[in-house]
Amino acid sequence: MENVFLSLGSNLGDRNSYLQYACQMIEQRIGVVEHKSSVYESAPWGYVSNNFFYNQVLQIQCNIEALELLSNLQQIEHELGRERYASHYVDRTLDIDILFFGEQVISLPQLTVPHPYITQRRFVLEPFSEIAPFFIHPVLKLTIQQLLEQCEDKSFIRKLESTT
Ligand code: ADP
Ligand code: MG
Repeated sequence: MENVFLSLGSNLGDRNSYLQYACQMIEQRIGVVEHKSSVYESAPWGYVSNNFFYNQVLQIQCNIEALELLSNLQQIEHELGRERYASHYVDRTLDIDILFFGEQVISLPQLTVPHPYITQRRFVLEPFSEIAPFFIHPVLKLTIQQLLEQCEDKSFIRKLESTT
């Protein structure tokens, strides 16, 4: 069993429903969802758009290899209407990133774990710290809480009280 953290993001359509569908599909196809953060609203990171994101972090337990997990997640993105473009930073119905895959360090053309931008993204660290503040980054050897305290990202983010 691997202890895995995923980042979910949506900024098109019914953002809350996309997060909920994704969570259900992960549970049906991939493994047990142990913890879900609250949903946060955040400004687009790294590009300009009027469509703000809903973001959430999930902790799951799964029994599959990292690359198989990635292809399963991409299938879910695809089924939930995600269209891929040459540039990464575009509006999307659903983005699912692998933040951590246990303690594993993976450096492949199609998969980098731990996710390289965790430390720069408040929209990841803020929800993450809600469910696992003392999880230790296996490379940096700092807790999520410490990474959040050090994070210099000043982008807009707020916790939504009314969602799951
Ligand atoms: P982004 O998440 O950077 O906005 P995409 O979702 O389009 O952009 O992902 C682009 C590529 O990133 C994917 O095709 C995938 O192979 C690769 N990738 C590398 N590392 C990861 C990771 N840790 N989690 C998810 N995708 C990853
Ligand atoms: Mg992605």
